[in-house]
Amino acid sequence: DLYNKMIELKGNIRVFCRCRPLSTEEIAKGDDMALDFESAKNGELVVKTNGIPKKVFKFDAVFGPDEDQEKVFEKTSHLATSVLDGYNICIFAYGQTGTGKTFTMEGTEGARGVNFRILEELFRVVGERCGIFRYEISVSVLEVYNEQIHDLLLPGSQTGVATKRLEVKKALEGVHHVPGLVEAHVSNMTEAWKVAQTGSKARSVGSTNANEHSSRSHCIHCVMVRGENLVNGECTRSKLWLIDLAGSERIAKTDAQGERLKEAQSINKSLSALGDVISALATKSPHVPFRNSKLTHLLQDSLGGDSKTLMFVQISPSENDVGENLCSLNFASRVR
Ligand code: ADP
Ligand code: MG
Repeated sequence: DLYNKMIELKGNIRVFCRCRPLSTEEIAKGDDMALDFESAKNGELVVKTNGIPKKVFKFDAVFGPDEDQEKVFEKTSHLATSVLDGYNICIFAYGQTGTGKTFTMEGTEGARGVNFRILEELFRVVGERCGIFRYEISVSVLEVYNEQIHDLLLPGSQTGVATKRLEVKKALEGVHHVPGLVEAHVSNMTEAWKVAQTGSKARSVGSTNANEHSSRSHCIHCVMVRGENLVNGECTRSKLWLIDLAGSERIAKTDAQGERLKEAQSINKSLSALGDVISALATKSPHVPFRNSKLTHLLQDSLGGDSKTLMFVQISPSENDVGENLCSLNFASRVR
């Protein structure tokens, strides 16, 4: 359709902005919305200060607080077909803790997010292509915490439980892999979702505060696809990465000591490395600094080239979060 045509015509990096609704606590406190979604249909977001429009940001799509998971997925679903066509795909959720990164990616049982929906769409298309293509699909779940990669499908390897760390290796020219990473073969949606959930649950084991831990690590689901065209014998290999990034909030230097300071530095390092890589790719810079963080190194073969990247920049509607919102919006504008 027209939307997909537009996607093909404009480079390979898309940025969608999504704002959650005011929470009950924020409403109770009398917080005002510091954002205006009147021109959201044109991809515009207006940030207000003291009720006055101050700055306009432009994105490939803007989803206000009233847009549901289904609406968001309408503009994302085509990437399931892309991965089956052999393209590498990265979908990120970026933003301050509490802005809805996990809601967008993971979702809830009553409001499924991108991860569930894209797997469902992927298997729907696999079914549709049955007889013309044969696909082998596997799922891995990993976490990057303090610049270390942990396999969430390997019992006992998650943070705080064991110390087994994984490294990124170059397999062939342009292909990176993580030796030893568990790849669970799945043949349908039910199996795929079960594996994905096993990984997500393992994440909180061994950490004293599951929520805090999850906001300080990057949670990554990787769907690996091997395709064979049964008509002409052509084979493809591609990956779909679904990434719930660590919270982007700045931590006051005075608040951070010891372990907390190390976490903050690791997050800062990997998020700025990600921004540097994507903006280098967007501006077609000859040098792309993939090796500056574990995250960008891990994703090296799936960022740039003919890969497709989608970033959700998540923001808060509350006037109290204008500062952090502006940081996230500026980050997102830089990578677009
Ligand atoms: P993050 O992962 O960025 O820290 P969460 O996804 O945990 O944020 O979201 C914080 C809270 O806001 C959760 O209770 C979540 O259910 C709720 N929330 C986030 N986005 C939305 C949305 N678009 N609609 C309704 N509730 C949302
Ligand atoms: Mg979260």
